Amino acid sequence: MCQLTREAVGGLRGCATRATSCILGVWIACAAIGAAGCAAHPEIVREPMPPGASVPAAYVGIIGFSAEGEPIVAYFFEGREPGILIIGSIHGSEPGGATLCEHLLWRLRDGTPDDRRVVVVPKANPDGLLRLRRENARGVDLNRNFPAANFRRSSTGGPEPLSEPESRALYDLVREERPGLVISIHEPLGVVDYDGPATEWAHCLAERIRLPLRRLGALAGSMGSWVGETLGLPIVTLELPRGAARPSTAASWEAYASALLDTIAWPEPAEAK
Ligand SMILES: [Zn+2]
Repeated sequence: MCQLTREAVGGLRGCATRATSCILGVWIACAAIGAAGCAAHPEIVREPMPPGASVPAAYVGIIGFSAEGEPIVAYFFEGREPGILIIGSIHGSEPGGATLCEHLLWRLRDGTPDDRRVVVVPKANPDGLLRLRRENARGVDLNRNFPAANFRRSSTGGPEPLSEPESRALYDLVREERPGLVISIHEPLGVVDYDGPATEWAHCLAERIRLPLRRLGALAGSMGSWVGETLGLPIVTLELPRGAARPSTAASWEAYASALLDTIAWPEPAEAK
């Protein structure tokens, strides 16, 4: 994150549990220092992007902070609502989601497909990503920590739903955005799964990305269970193939990003309206 932005958000940590105030606060901070400078996010701007390029999101927001104080960054692209929310690497041992989100951000520079509102959270579990560990820094699997009806208290799921700052940040974002579709990117099963009224979208993504469609079942306290079963909103889980994040397969990211763009552009199915 650019130094000015890090300083600007430093004073906002006290409001990390409320996404609205943080997003608003950082948006104001970004406006104060200049949107172009704020958008030039060094974690996102990397090869093959040209030097000095910026991620052309309408605005960048901090939706919360990890257990170790790392900002959880979201990129907001304005457009027709309901929007589509794309989440990468909620499991830190699955870096392919963050990489794919970064490619997608670059592809969104010319606008969103079908003029859709799109929100992208490339690194939902920044502490886990730094360690390449599935759980967050407190040892909780964030994808078992949501307030779904099937939540189970456990050492991996946490003592209670939303016990973790990262899951609270995503919870607030989903409640605020009320997206028309959530896509959560995992690995390494190499399948497309879904919960809630997302059948058509899941078929679209599976066909475009050339992975089989397979129902994995409602997992305790997962984001899929909460969004799909509890909220009744469509959610697609993209399980990238094993090794998707290796540099040797970098060329495939463009194909993956194209498949996501096609899915975003897919007409909203009647089942989800
Ligand atoms: Zn996963």
